[in-house]
Amino acid sequence: MSEHQDWFPVPESATKDTHCSAAEYDRLYAGSIANPDSFWAEQAKRIDWLAQPTKIGNWSYDPVSIKWYEDGVLNLCHNAVDRHVAAGKGDAIAFIFEPDEPSKPARKVSYSELQAEVIRMANTLKKMGVAKGDRVTIYMPMIVEGAVAMLACARIGAVHSVVFGGFSPEALAGRIEDCASRFVICADSGVRGGKHVPLKSNLDAALERVSGVEGVLVIEHTGDPCNMTPHRDHWYHEYGADVPAECPCEPMNAEDPLFILYTSGSTGKPKGVLHTTGGYSVWTATTFHYVFDYKPGEVFFCSADIGWVTGHSYVVYGPLQNGATSLIFEGIPSYPDNGRFWDIVDRHQVNIFYTAPTALRALMRDGDGPVKARSRKSIRLLGTVGEPINPEAWRWYHATVGEGKLPIVDTWWQTETGGTMITTLPGAHGMKPGSAGRPFFGIRPQLVDADGQVIADEGDARGDVSGNLCITHSWPGQARTVYGDHDRFVQTYFSTYKGKYFTGDGCRRDGDGYWWITGRVDDVINVSGHRMGTAEVESALVLHDRVAEAAVVGFPHEIKGQGIYCYVTLNAGEEPSAELESELRMQVRQEIGPIASPDHIHFTPALPKTRSGKIMRRILRKIAENDFGALGDTSTLADPSVVDSLIEGRRNR
Ligand code: ATP
Ligand code: MG
Repeated sequence: MSEHQDWFPVPESATKDTHCSAAEYDRLYAGSIANPDSFWAEQAKRIDWLAQPTKIGNWSYDPVSIKWYEDGVLNLCHNAVDRHVAAGKGDAIAFIFEPDEPSKPARKVSYSELQAEVIRMANTLKKMGVAKGDRVTIYMPMIVEGAVAMLACARIGAVHSVVFGGFSPEALAGRIEDCASRFVICADSGVRGGKHVPLKSNLDAALERVSGVEGVLVIEHTGDPCNMTPHRDHWYHEYGADVPAECPCEPMNAEDPLFILYTSGSTGKPKGVLHTTGGYSVWTATTFHYVFDYKPGEVFFCSADIGWVTGHSYVVYGPLQNGATSLIFEGIPSYPDNGRFWDIVDRHQVNIFYTAPTALRALMRDGDGPVKARSRKSIRLLGTVGEPINPEAWRWYHATVGEGKLPIVDTWWQTETGGTMITTLPGAHGMKPGSAGRPFFGIRPQLVDADGQVIADEGDARGDVSGNLCITHSWPGQARTVYGDHDRFVQTYFSTYKGKYFTGDGCRRDGDGYWWITGRVDDVINVSGHRMGTAEVESALVLHDRVAEAAVVGFPHEIKGQGIYCYVTLNAGEEPSAELESELRMQVRQEIGPIASPDHIHFTPALPKTRSGKIMRRILRKIAENDFGALGDTSTLADPSVVDSLIEGRRNR
C-alpha cells in the first residue's frame, strides 16, 4: 500500500502568470456571490454582442424559469471563429487533428481556414433546407468536420444534437425521434483503434425505424462505400462544392436554443438536455479561461468525444471562444499501444491535458512504462472529469504523468451544468486527491439531508459533513429544460428539494471547505445505519496494487439492512484467489472500518460501462439483488455482453 499524502500545495510553476491567485479567487468569488449580476455582466464582456444585454440573471427555481442575458443578441460561431479572424488572428491554429493511425499526417486548421469551412458547411445546410430553429443531428467521428458541423449549426441558428458515433442504430433512432430532427450530418465511417465504424450504414438502419428525416449530409472521411438514398442523402464534397463563400452569422437572442444533448444514461433513460445561446457562451468562455488558466499560444488537449458535453464545452466552444488551439483526437488511448496519449502530447507539444478517470485507470493497469518512455515535458496542467477519481488513480496521474510537479484540476460538473461547477483553480488552490475542490465563481453548493434540511452551505464553517448536493442559485450555463418535456426537467431536478437544483450526487465537505463527490445519491449505501458512499469503498479496493477497477453497490441484507457487494477487475496478468479476496476485505476494513467490510467480492474481467466510460452501477445493483429481469434502459451500454457474464457469475455464487 502506498504512503498516503492528502495535501498537495499549489506548485510554484502554477503561480506564475496565473489568471487567478488565491487572493484573487477569494475576492472574485465573494463578489460573484454578493452581486451576481455585476459579476456576470463583467464576464459577458469576454465576448461580442450584437445587442449588449441589460438584464443579466432572471430566474426562479419555484416555479422553474431560467433566463440569463435575456435582451442580449449574439452569435456563438462569431465569437468562436469570426471574431478572431477580424482581430487579425486568422493565422493562429484553431484545431490540430491527430488521426487514429499515427503514421498518417496530422492536420492543422487555422482560424481563417476554419471560418471558410464553417461557412461552406453552413451554406450547404441552408441549401438542404435547414433553417433557424431546426434540429440537426450530428453523428460523426472525432474529426474536424464534427466541430465544423456544430459551428455551422450555431452560425445559422439551427439547434444541434450530437449523438456519439459509438451509439447503435436504435439509440441513434431514439435520439432523432425525440427531438424530431429532420436533418442529419454524418460521415461515411469513422476509425477507432484501427477498426472502421460504419456510421452511414448505422444511420441507414436507424432511418428504417424513424420517419421524418428529409436531408442527410454525408462527409467523405474514410472512402468506405455507402448506400445513398436519392433526394435524401447528399455527399458533402459534391453537394457543397458550389455554395457561396459568404454566410452571415444569424443574430440570436441569448435565450434562443443552442443545442440539445442527451445525458450519458448512467442512471436511467437519457434526457435531452437543452442549452441556450448567451449564458452557455459566457459560461464556457469564462470557465475555460480560469479552470485551465489558458495562455495564448498554448495547445489544449481534451480527450473527450464531441458526443459528450465535455467535448462540446472544452473541445469546441470554450477553447475557441478563447482563441485557443484545441486538439481533436480521432482514436483511443490504447492504440497502437497504451502510450498513445503521451505520444500525442510530445508530437504536438500539448500544454494542458484533460481526460477521464476511466482512461487513467485503464492506463494505470499497464504500469508506468508507457508513460516514462515519453518525455511529456510540454505539459504544465492536468485535468480530469466524468466520475469521482479514486485517490490512488489521482496519485498515479500526479506522480507518474505529472512527475509530481504539475497541478491537477478535478472538475465536477454535469451535462445539465454546461461547464465546470466545482474545481480547484490551478494557481489558487492546493489539491487533495479525490476532492474536486472549491466552487467556481457564482456557484453556491449546499448539502441537504433526505428531508431537505440544510446540512451545510458554501461559506459556513462546518467541517466534515455529508449530504445530497444541491445548488441554490442559478448560473449562466445552466440547462433550461429537457427538450419537449419541461415537466420532466422540473420533476428530475427541482422537485426533490423545492426551490433548489438537485444534482443527484452525494457529497462531503471537509473542514477546509473542500467538496468531495461521493457518487450518485442512489449509490449511497446504508449498512446497519451507517451511510457510506460507494466511491469510498471502491477507492479502498483500488488501493490494492493488483486491483485495476472496482464498482460497489448495496443489496438487501436481512440483518444489516444493506450489504456491500463489490465487483472487482484485476490488473493485466493477475488471477483471482481466495487469498486475494481476504486481503481485499482486510484492506477495506483498514481504510474505512469494519463496518465497510464487503459481503461479496465478485471478480470479473470487465464492468458494464456507458459509452462515455462510466460504470453503470444501477445494472450492477440489479445483478447484486439477483433481479435479472428488469435491468432498465441498457441502450447506452458500450458492451452488452459484459452483463450476461456478470449474471452468470452471480448465479454461480
Ligand atoms: P444520466 O444523467 O443520464 O444518468 P450522467 O449523469 O452519467 O448520465 P453526465 O452529465 O455526463 O451524465 O455526467 C455527470 C455526472 O458525472 C455527475 O453528476 C457526477 O456523478 C459525475 N462526475 C462528473 N465529473 C465528476 C468529478 N470530477 N468528480 C466526481 N463525479 C463526477
Ligand atoms: Mg446525470
